[in-house]
Amino acid sequence: MQSAFHYRTRDARVVFGEDALETLGSVMDDLGRSRALIVATPELAATANRVATHLGDRQAGVFDEARQHVPVGTVQAAREALQRTEADCCITVGGGSSTGLGKALSLEVDDLPILAVPTTYAGSEMTSIWGLTDAGAKRTGRAARVAPRAVFYVPSFTTGLPPSISGPSGMNALAHSVEALYAVDCDPVTSLFAEESIRALAASLPRVVAEPEDLDARTEALYGAHLAGRVLDGASMALHHKLCHVLGGTFNLPHGPTHAVVLPYATAYNAPEVPEAMRRVARALGAEDAAKGLYALNRALDIPPSLEALGLKARDLDAAADAAIANQYPNPRPITRAGIRHLLDDAYHGRRPQSHAHLTASTTPDA
Ligand code: NAD
Repeated sequence: MQSAFHYRTRDARVVFGEDALETLGSVMDDLGRSRALIVATPELAATANRVATHLGDRQAGVFDEARQHVPVGTVQAAREALQRTEADCCITVGGGSSTGLGKALSLEVDDLPILAVPTTYAGSEMTSIWGLTDAGAKRTGRAARVAPRAVFYVPSFTTGLPPSISGPSGMNALAHSVEALYAVDCDPVTSLFAEESIRALAASLPRVVAEPEDLDARTEALYGAHLAGRVLDGASMALHHKLCHVLGGTFNLPHGPTHAVVLPYATAYNAPEVPEAMRRVARALGAEDAAKGLYALNRALDIPPSLEALGLKARDLDAAADAAIANQYPNPRPITRAGIRHLLDDAYHGRRPQSHAHLTASTTPDA
């Protein structure tokens, strides 16, 4: 047990359940808001309209053009919709792309509270992290003002999320919790949430993928993702998130599946330095070994088996390794060019993860 620690909490209302949206009006009243603009991705237009029906005359309009990676042009168009409809708050309906658009709006527009109705397991609704893409370059940051003030989890809104997105999205959430357990700034409370979120996600995701309409499984997966979002807000991320950022940003690999594929290998890389965190991950997974347990979970979720299957080319592995070691960041195990290249090679081929303990000695920068 750590003898000294600190952690943050935020003032956010969180409501779970099929009737969650019945509290929407009173939550808006509590926030002193009377007109909400709903933002969503095009695929979620019907769900956005269902949310609108709960608003009655509190509805200002629906903007259903949210897109991946929050392009600045989309933010500008949503901002115009906000002004045109005279909305004084924003309700995001969807995954990280919809939530991200709401956050970008609240970053630019003064006093614009965000209320979130998440429909994936990304967890963005529980964080103060924003992202924006301009001319192909993604900027991210943290700002308290972008964190949603209320979050409504309606499990049946997630039943349309196909297994091919549900599984990777859940593994993206799980990755937040695995990295939190060995984060430099983790605390006992965040660790508790992290372990419980891994347990809930590992228990529910195979059921979600096998039976997408199973509302109990969907509820437990949302609960796990909610905890993982809180964890992401409270602990800094390390090697795994850096690798996924590089692979997504530079090589355009898909966000969720990349997290899923890389996680067992990043975990195996760090394992020798963080045995207690690994014990907790393994315990939550119900597995003997953390990295192998994550690999087995990916297989059970029918996630593409390798970076090659996600479209990475073998010729890109060297450039990916170079980019992953370009900037210093906290990681429990020293980052070496040889170690990262080896990790990427395993992930590229989808090999069963092995301990990389034999590379521990090579801590000199060999890039
Ligand atoms: P997403 O929001 O892009 O959704 C993926 C696809 O699924 C989209 O086409 C969407 O329209 C569709 N979809 C969403 N919910 C659906 C449903 N219930 N039924 C049918 N289709 C549905 O993807 P995501 O994985 O939720 O989020 C990924 C993005 O979120 C990335 O850009 C990532 O960087 C960001 N993110 C941000 C944070 C943060 O704290 N800021 C945390 C995690 C992820």
